[in-house]
Amino acid sequence: MKKRYETIVIGGGIIGVSIAYHLAKAGKQTAVFESGEVGKKASRAAAGMLGAHAECDKPGTFFEFARASQTAYKRLTAELKSVSGIDIRRHDGGILKLAFTESDRARLMEMAALDSAEWLTPQEVYEKEPHAAKGILGANFIRDDVHVEPISVCRAFAKGAKLFGADIFEYAPVFSIEAAAGGGVRIQTASGAAEADHAVIASGVWSGVFFQQLGLNKRFYPVKGECLSVWNDSIPLTRTLYHDHCYIVPRHSGKLVIGATMKAGDWNEQPDADGIEAVMKKAKTMLPRIGGLKIDRCWAGLRPETEDGNPYIGRHPENDSILFAAGHFRNGILLAPATGEMITDMILSRPIEPAWEEAFKVDRKEAVHK
Ligand SMILES: Cc1cc2nc3c(=O)[nH]c(=O)nc-3n(C[C@H](O)[C@H](O)[C@H](O)COP(=O)(O)OP(=O)(O)OC[C@H]3O[C@@H](n4cnc5c(N)ncnc54)[C@H](O)[C@@H]3O)c2cc1C
Repeated sequence: MKKRYETIVIGGGIIGVSIAYHLAKAGKQTAVFESGEVGKKASRAAAGMLGAHAECDKPGTFFEFARASQTAYKRLTAELKSVSGIDIRRHDGGILKLAFTESDRARLMEMAALDSAEWLTPQEVYEKEPHAAKGILGANFIRDDVHVEPISVCRAFAKGAKLFGADIFEYAPVFSIEAAAGGGVRIQTASGAAEADHAVIASGVWSGVFFQQLGLNKRFYPVKGECLSVWNDSIPLTRTLYHDHCYIVPRHSGKLVIGATMKAGDWNEQPDADGIEAVMKKAKTMLPRIGGLKIDRCWAGLRPETEDGNPYIGRHPENDSILFAAGHFRNGILLAPATGEMITDMILSRPIEPAWEEAFKVDRKEAVHK
């Protein structure tokens, strides 16, 4: 391990490796320190939906940021394949957000007025997906809300970063961070100390400890999500079905990913039978025949939630050498490219979209959303 880098990233989830990729590509000497293996925590648990429309009920700064990140994936799909040789398994079918009640319909029709969303009648839905549940009142079809395979994105970012010169240390937990005597920052890891001009904290739901060490009273809340995948060789499905935070995602492999519960405050990363039963119940309301498919596997992950539900992406208010990129809650896969670009722009002193800087800065006054 070198003792000094230009930038150190703490955490090798999708956010950390996206930052490392963008920094290394810009020529910065970068190192990632990851407690375990790259992409194996919340990022691996994700379904991989790039759901800018599916996840936002109204336009605004978050939606604009999500759209920018979704657009960046269009470029990155080919770029990451060419740089790393890894296919991120982008699946272009889009999402059908189903309406079962009049209030669903009213809300979804409002979103259909936005770009790239289209309201479909029940007949039009069944023409696209004949096995969708009977009795729906229509659906919002969102072409741009495609999905990717999260672990492949993590591996592609990490390999790309290495090929651009970054060091990625796995099984290298960081214990502490402080201002370095000669300027910049100093971290203590399991294999010794390292220093850098800048450090970025990107440790998902475990970021709270570093905020506390750095004098910032910000909390992170785990929201556990449980999922399962099933082998599908009998129900044609090309688009993701989505209703009430539950989804059925058709993967390139032929499997369907079904998720996910929302268990606030649960730090246990194991799925339980009640959780899996709950997601199956919701899935059957959208695709009744899904209950007959064979189970592939079940899993769980911890979404990193903040006080107001928005991520922290920005500098420490009193120390420009320390930056944060954590708390991406339900949308870290979607937001990884825009987050990587924004942190890189900050470190390189490039201009940042002022509305994004303001919305995601660390010292904002959070409007509690829970
Ligand atoms: C069931 C489920 C479904 C989801 N579906 C979607 C989806 O479809 N689309 C979407 O956009 N998002 C989705 N998400 C959300 C998404 O997974 C997260 O927002 C995203 O993975 C967060 O990425 P991260 O890198 O911040 O965190 P993580 O992936 O958790 O990575 C943080 C990393 O930091 C490391 N770390 C922690 N402490 C230290 C330390 N002291 N030193 C070194 N390393 C450390 C950890 O080991 C970990 O690898 C889903 C989440 C879940 C749980």
